Amino acid sequence: MSHNRGKIGVCLAMATALVSCGTPAENTREQGTRSTKAPDPAAAEQPASPPPTPPGALPRTGEVARIPKPADGLPPVISKIPTKRKVVFLTIDDGWEQDPHFVDFVRTERIPIAVFLTRDAAEARGALDPTVTGGSYIGAGKYPYFRKLRDAGATFENHTLTHPNMRLLGYEAQRREICGASAVIAKQIGVRPWLFRPPFGNLNTATRRAAKECGIDAVLLWTATVQREGKIAYQVPDKRLYPGDVILLHFRPNLAEDFRRLVRKIERRGFELGNLDAYLKAAGVRPRAR
Ligand SMILES: [Zn+2]
Repeated sequence: MSHNRGKIGVCLAMATALVSCGTPAENTREQGTRSTKAPDPAAAEQPASPPPTPPGALPRTGEVARIPKPADGLPPVISKIPTKRKVVFLTIDDGWEQDPHFVDFVRTERIPIAVFLTRDAAEARGALDPTVTGGSYIGAGKYPYFRKLRDAGATFENHTLTHPNMRLLGYEAQRREICGASAVIAKQIGVRPWLFRPPFGNLNTATRRAAKECGIDAVLLWTATVQREGKIAYQVPDKRLYPGDVILLHFRPNLAEDFRRLVRKIERRGFELGNLDAYLKAAGVRPRAR
């Protein structure tokens, strides 16, 4: 794409109205390029006509502050989106449990979610994430479940191969975890991650170096986690959601019901669910071409 840099913020905001960047001729050409692109054999089960717009609220012009680029040239570590709008972002980690009702809910209600996938979780092997108490690999069916989620509008990002504490690993081992997971996701889901979330939120400088080496543009942490029955555990003492919060869930048993409660709770508090990719782009964190 050959967008004028100055247009990007405006274009992102205008995307809500289904208007993209550039001149009408450019738009036509881009849409044509997308629709005539040769199918990727790795992206099995991809629908013939993807949804016209991604799910979730898109940023308005000037709404999102820039996220500064770190002086060391490595990917920034982000835990919230710098906006004053009442919008929060839903992220779901690991992939141990595969509740089919959850996919239905995401699809029919067009809920924007970013999935941070761990290979061993998706494939129901290795040690169970200790943060996912009560998990028992119920319904684990490897990747078709996640391809359905992709087709329902979910984005897929990197959460390592084996879910280790990255601080306990050297650079090479960290690089294998991140590059390996991106390769698996590219092969199985058909998209290449540009975000990385370290298990338990543990990272060091070697993690960021390895992430960059593996094509990751930003490390994404979180500001609130969701427990059973949709209960939110806040990282601030006043127990409120704040604009730009990044909310972390896990693929747990009963996810669909807990998730439904959570979404209703967020809406009752007057918050919208935002499209993470669009907001990070608006903040100047640009994803590489997938
Ligand atoms: Zn995890």
